[in-house]
Amino acid sequence: MSDRLPGFSTLAVHAGAQPDPTTGARATPIYQTTSFVFNDADHAASLFGLQAFGNIYTRIGNPTNAVLEERVAALEGGTAALAVASGHAAQVVVLQQLLQPGDEFIAARKLYGGSINQFTHAFKSFGWNVVWADPDDTASFERAVTPRTKAIFIESIANPAGSITDIEAISTVARKAGVPLIVDNTLASPYLIRPIDHGADIVVHSLTKFLGGHGNSLGGIIVDAGTFDWSTGGKYPMLSEPRPEYHGIRLQETFGNFAFAIACRVLGLRDLGPALSPFNAFMILTGIETLPLRMQKHCDNAKAVAEYLAGHPAVASVSYAGLPSDKYNQLARKYAPRGAGAVFTFSLKGGYDAGVSLVSKLQLFSHLANVGDTRSLVIHPASTTHSQLDDAAKIKSGAGPDVVRISVGIEDKEDLIADLEQALGA
Ligand SMILES: *Cc1c(COP(=O)(O)O)cnc(C)c1O
Repeated sequence: MSDRLPGFSTLAVHAGAQPDPTTGARATPIYQTTSFVFNDADHAASLFGLQAFGNIYTRIGNPTNAVLEERVAALEGGTAALAVASGHAAQVVVLQQLLQPGDEFIAARKLYGGSINQFTHAFKSFGWNVVWADPDDTASFERAVTPRTKAIFIESIANPAGSITDIEAISTVARKAGVPLIVDNTLASPYLIRPIDHGADIVVHSLTKFLGGHGNSLGGIIVDAGTFDWSTGGKYPMLSEPRPEYHGIRLQETFGNFAFAIACRVLGLRDLGPALSPFNAFMILTGIETLPLRMQKHCDNAKAVAEYLAGHPAVASVSYAGLPSDKYNQLARKYAPRGAGAVFTFSLKGGYDAGVSLVSKLQLFSHLANVGDTRSLVIHPASTTHSQLDDAAKIKSGAGPDVVRISVGIEDKEDLIADLEQALGA
């Protein structure tokens, strides 16, 4: 073997996986078991006390899930990762390690609609207070920092409009405030953007979207960049203080640059319980093998569809960062040179009614609440995902009444354009 570092496509196929040592199986087996036999009583005790690594119970870890964790950590350039049941589970597990009741976190206002709901309502009931900032205005993050701020949360490519966030600028604010920057990299995937290269401390994904890629399995993952010092200022007691549930060990002192991933596993996943099924891990691993091929096709198709829409008389505007005229095109060239993703919005001159009419006339595009499938998808956010927001909040989050969001799949682009043509024209 040469000593060159494997490239992204090689990692997407191989990282974390070996032929099965017992059977020789080349694809990663689905270890469909709840629990694992201990070698002896000492081995059991050392596993429970975190003195040895190994399998105990699938709520805490599973060998199929471990391959997925190693693979995504390699693709994102992190030190370790933890797979969980969904993207939302990843977000709750991450913040549980960082916030005590009464603490705050700053979040970009342009987010996946489900995240806006989760932060506003569920997290508030835990005493975790979200403070909104404008991802297009770095100073608004700076102004939102208080002594109770424990984290900053942004999306790399933001829902629903596919806008590009200036990760480096916001990471500078996080560094100055002494808090970690969490980046939801779902819409970009590490093929397009690797947030850790731009200063992110923690990356989260809904694996349900482009990483799994086929619209068949829910999953989430947390990647630890290994860059943050959790001991400064006593702000993060879950990581820096002795843990009574593990004989008083301090996680950062014991686990160094992957302490955050360990905390998420042994304090978050173990106690909150959103474990990923090994079957879903297998499906998502299979999806990741073709991530580079799929993402490139998604992006190329999205650009062609965006160009078509931009020239259509029924369309008022198109927000796609891959178009040279788009206000995010400069940031797209810097952060996502291979393509600006495949999820974006456009607005219709006919307003709310035209949006509702379009989604009902499209045939090849499926009308549903998901993104990042091989199939092309469409939704009218104002009447669905963002319907709980008032009109001002809808517009601020990029989901005004005239806005339609699409997730462009990997079909033939000519067929996608023909479907839009019949639905817009008829
Ligand atoms: C879908 C999505 C989530 C939530 O993920 P689930 O797997 O549905 O829980 C979070 N962030 C973004 C950007 C998403 O698209």
